[in-house]
Formats: sequence, structure tokens, C-alpha cells
Amino acid sequence: MNNFSNNLNFQKMLDINHSDAKKLAQLGLNTIVNLLYYFPKDYLSFRRTRISEARTGEYVTIAGKIVNHGIFDCRKKPELTLQKWSVRDKTGKISCTQFHNHSYYRSHKWRVEQYELYSPGTLVLVTGKVKQDSYGLTINNPTIKVVSLADAKASTNSITPIYRLTKGVTNELILHCTEAAIAHTQGWLDPLPKKLRSRFKLIDLATALAHIHFPPNSDSLEKARHRLAFDEFFYLQLGLLQRRYSLQQQPGYPLIATRKLLNQFYQKLPFTLTQAQQRVIDEILSDMEQLLPMNRLVQGDVGAGKTVVAAVAMLATIESGYQVALMTPTEVLAQQHFEKISTWLEPLGISIALLTGSTSTLKRRCILQELESGKLSLLVGTHALIQDTVHFNQLGLVVIDEQHRFGVEQRIKLSQKGITPHLLTMTATPIPRTLALTLHGDLDISLLDELPPGRQPIETKLLTERTRNKAYRLIAREVEQGRQAYIILPLVEASEKLDLKAAIDEYQHLSENVFPNYQVGLLHGRMSSAQKETALARFHNHQTKILVSTTVVEVGVDVPNASVMLIEHAERFGLSQLHQLRGRVGRGTHKSYCLLVSNSKSEDAKTRLKVMETSQDGFFLAEMDLRLRGPGQVLGTKQAGLPNFALADLSKDQVLLEQAREAALLAIGKDPTLKRWPELLQEMSRRQPFEQVSSELPTLPYG
Ligand code: ADP
Ligand code: MG
Repeated sequence: MNNFSNNLNFQKMLDINHSDAKKLAQLGLNTIVNLLYYFPKDYLSFRRTRISEARTGEYVTIAGKIVNHGIFDCRKKPELTLQKWSVRDKTGKISCTQFHNHSYYRSHKWRVEQYELYSPGTLVLVTGKVKQDSYGLTINNPTIKVVSLADAKASTNSITPIYRLTKGVTNELILHCTEAAIAHTQGWLDPLPKKLRSRFKLIDLATALAHIHFPPNSDSLEKARHRLAFDEFFYLQLGLLQRRYSLQQQPGYPLIATRKLLNQFYQKLPFTLTQAQQRVIDEILSDMEQLLPMNRLVQGDVGAGKTVVAAVAMLATIESGYQVALMTPTEVLAQQHFEKISTWLEPLGISIALLTGSTSTLKRRCILQELESGKLSLLVGTHALIQDTVHFNQLGLVVIDEQHRFGVEQRIKLSQKGITPHLLTMTATPIPRTLALTLHGDLDISLLDELPPGRQPIETKLLTERTRNKAYRLIAREVEQGRQAYIILPLVEASEKLDLKAAIDEYQHLSENVFPNYQVGLLHGRMSSAQKETALARFHNHQTKILVSTTVVEVGVDVPNASVMLIEHAERFGLSQLHQLRGRVGRGTHKSYCLLVSNSKSEDAKTRLKVMETSQDGFFLAEMDLRLRGPGQVLGTKQAGLPNFALADLSKDQVLLEQAREAALLAIGKDPTLKRWPELLQEMSRRQPFEQVSSELPTLPYG
């Protein structure tokens, strides 16, 4: 598609002056394409009305003849020019006033043109909101359009676009420009191949653009929206699939595992794998036996047992003679994985190390040496693992836990010697398929959709300030019986300092006034990692009975003896996040409880929290979250790389997204470079949902 960035040209094409062009530029509207893609935020539908039937406050369209037209300078405000019409139909008369606020409207030339355009007797359609003033019925700032008799008769109903405006930019101005811009789309090539358009029943782009702005009726508006929303999904999927393709341009390490170690591991495991675990393990292993690098995401609810699945993948890699990096978003989690995996793998003679920001320089140097020599097989750590100073001997597999926390852009750059390691990402926040495709469309996805047997549902109760004491009594009872409890305080990112104060105050209050007889611990994000470790270790070995914590514990903390969780200000969390938090209890054999305290009066909040009482299914809760609060909330406060769609809606357009995915797969399947369709490539780079990886220069795996 052509991109008319030449400003003068742009002005000329739209027939606007320099001042208006400058105003439009504030909204980024400096090319024809940008204008066309500046979609209305809303539409007003007007009823065609006789003047005698027009009522104050209504939006109407009136067809009539001009009886009078005049342009006047405003004496009080030198910048202001008033343009007035008087319009008559068979039933009555109405006046219209347009307020112009620029010296341009003082120009003689413009006035001559206007008087010519609106000479008495001219047939016009006037649209706007009816007002009553001392002179009778009037419409201020109307949309006024000269029409033929046939047009006037045909216009029984009309839909007018409403745009997002800014200072000095009127809806009228954008309307005018968009109309002019649409006139220039004639002869444009639709970048979407015709075969795909007809297969997915899409109207052509030029029509879609014309109708999204000026829909002749609601049906054509829907078709236009459908096509343009399809495009939003489609180009994103194209980019994602192209990235997947380019990633696979470099070989990975195909596994040659004898499965001897694996079998030993299985024998020592204190439980049998669930069917889902077995299936996902099979998917992973068969991926890793290929020459192409694996790029797989395991989605599994909290407690579904992802760690053991990852352990198997690591073991198979190590058995084949390669190294593994396991990355986690927090040090707490790194520490825990390190401990758990050590107990599993060290007996099998595998050397494991932990590397985080707080590893001592000496230790770090030693680890790096062993890593480079290949003596070390498995390195667990946080982002520290992706630093340039970390060199592996033969890195065969990278496992990322709680992947969404890294964000798409931050995905690692760990490929070495022209070989791309297998990549296994795991997330405990099940997300609906629309979000998964949008965020992780470049990955293969495995679902761990079965919990290990014998899990008791966590009894969840919604409490208010008035019933808070019930919660404290329950906590005391559980602690008396040898269990432990979490008390979670929300973290509002806007003011970390205040939160910190709130957490510390609450901690003091609880330990002094509410639970003076029990050891109460505190954990928050501002503590040093050594402090955090101590706090967690004390909770882990039952020294502290009650842990007051901000949401640091959300990710992966595993203390099976904990049986109660109290969450303050529950309404501030999304369902997915609450579910994630709740997953910290019910990890052992004890009956467990989750108490949600909320004083929110909002019915929405109450409805949402009620869902927590009835459902334990993370996938379901995520769907509900998506429906009730929108995609951003499902992923937590951080949007985590979700693109901004102008028209497409991830909570409603599931079918459309699947079609766009299918279309993108078809195109990539035919020609992964997309060179066969230059317009498609051009349009894709215009949209640039993220940096595109060149298909010819596959350097690092994740751009
Ligand atoms: P998550 O998927 O949340 O990371 P974990 O891997 O931490 O879950 O597993 C949760 C708990 O369930 C751990 O204590 C783990 O040892 C245990 N577990 C995992 N798989 C099974 C299984 N098949 N049977 C019984 N317990 C299991
Ligand atoms: Mg986990």
C-alpha cells in the first residue's frame, strides 16, 4: 500500500490547509494510510426525520432545501467565524450553525466557494443534535452535505462515525479528510491474496476501509469490521509463524538419550505420572529427537506437576551429553527449583549449580568455569543466566518457568555456535487459547490439563471486614493443628513505598495484636534476596507459622504444610492471579482453605469473587477473567507484550482468530519467506507488531 508521507501532497490530496494538516498530525494522521486506519471510536445512527417531528436532544438527519446561508465574523472573538444555514422541508424550518475557529475562514476565497456551494435552493442532508434556542429549532456544528434528489430520498437512515478528537480537531475535519482519503484507495491492490479472501469470506480491503468509516448500513459495518479485525490477527500470526520458521533455520541438538537415566529417575519417583504428564513428556521428547530445535510451551494449572515434566526433559538432554539452563523469574523460585531438582537429579550423578544475582563472585567464577568446560550439566538461576559472561559448553536445552513474566521481547538469546538450544517454557497461568495464540503463536503448546490424583479442592470463602475474625479464628485453629498460613497483601505498583509500609504495618499488627502467640514472618519484594531466602526458609522448616507476604509468593512457592491463605483486598486481583495465589495451599494432604477478604461494594467485584468460591479450574477462571475484565487482566497488571488491536477483541473474536491463524499457516506453508506476495510483506512490515526476524539471517533465536 502506498504511503503518502509527503506533507504538501497529503494536504493537496485531502484538500485541507496547512493549519489543519498540523492539527491532524497531533493525532498521527499525516498519511492517507494512517487516516484510513484511524477507525471511528463509535457511530451514531440517525433517523431521517421531518423537521416538524424533530425533538430537542435527538440526533437526526434532515433532508431539505437551503433557504438562507451566511458567513459572519464574530465581533467579540476575532478568531471566530460563524456559518449559518436555514433549511426548510415541507413541514418546517430549522437553523444550523457551524463555529469556525481559525483565520483561514476569513479568507475571501473560502467564502466565495462556500456561498457557491450552499446557494439557496440547494438540496442538503443535515445531521446533528437538535437544540431549542430563542430563535427556534437549531443544530450546532452539523454534518451538512449537498446531495442529489435521489440521494436525499434514499437516505432513510444514516450512520455517522465518531472519532477520537484532540484540541482543534473536529469530527467534521476528520470526516472530511477520511472521505477524501477513501477516494484515493481506488485501484489499490488488496495485499491479502484473493484465494484467502474467498476462502475466509472476507470483503476486499478498499471496501472494508470505506465501510468502516462510512457504513451504508449496520450489516456492511459488521463485514468491514470483520475483515479489518481479521487483518489484525492475520498479520500478527504471520509474523509469529515467520519467527518460528526462522528459528528453525538453525539446527538444534537432536537427543540421543538411551533413557537409562530416565528409567532410573522414574523408578525413584515417589509417585506415578498422570496421563497428562506422560503425554506432555512424550510430546517434548519427540520434539527433542528432531534435528530442529524444539520451541514448546507447557501450560498447566498450579500444582499440575510441571516441574517433574521439566526434570525429564532436562535429564534426557543431559543424558545425551548436553547442558541445560533453567531460568525462573525470581530468586525465590530459582532457589526452590534448585533444591527440588537437586534431590531428584543429584542421586543420578548430575552436577547442578545455582546462579543468581546474589551468588558470590568467587562462586560465580567457579560456576562459569565449570559451565564452559562442560563439567556442570545443569544451571538454575534468574535472568543472571542470560548475561553475556555466561558461556555454556554445549547448551542443549533452556527451560523457562513462568514464561509470561519474561515478556515476549525479553526472550533469551542463548544460542551458540550456530546451534539453537531446545526451548521449553512453562506457565502456571493457564490462559485462554485466544491469548495463547496471540502471545505464543510462535510456540507449540502442550496442555497439562489434569491434576495429580488425591488433591482436595481448596475450600474458598468470601469474607468482609465484619467477618474477618472468622478468618483469624480459622488460621489459629489450623496453626494449633500444626499447619501454616499465608496472609497476602496486594501490591499496587503505582506506589511501592506505601505498599511496603502497609505490609510492614500489617505484619506488626498481626504479630502483636492478632497472633501474639505464634511466630509471624514477613516477606516482600523490597527485601534483599538473602532476607527473602531466610524468611522463606523459616517458613519452610515451620519456624514461622504465619507468613505475611506481598504477592512475591505468587510464583511457585511450595510449602505443602501450609493449609490456609488469607487474601486482603481480594477485589484488586484478577481471577487468574487469585487462583495462582490460592495454589500455594492445598499442596499437601491437608484440607486447605482460601479466604478472600473484600469490602468492595461493586457488584462486578462480588460476582467475580463468587466465581472463586465455586471453581478450582484455572483454565475456566482464565476464561472468566478474559470475559469479565479483558485480556490485560488475565495476564496480571503487566500487559506482557499483548498487542493493541484496534478492532479485534480477544474475548469475543475467537473464531476469527482461528481463521486468521489458519490463513497464516496456509501462507507460510506455501512460502515461509512470503516473497511470493510482496504486498503482504510490505503490509506486514507497515504494521510491525514486533521486530521481524529476517528469514535469511537467522542469528539469535528470539529477537
Ligand atoms: P506446578 O505445575 O505448579 O509447577 P509442581 O511441579 O510444583 O506443580 O508439583 C506440585 C506438587 O505435586 C509437587 O509437590 C510435586 O512433587 C507433586 N506431583 C507432581 N506430579 C505428581 C504426580 N503425578 N502424582 C503425585 N504428585 C505429583
Ligand atoms: Mg512450578
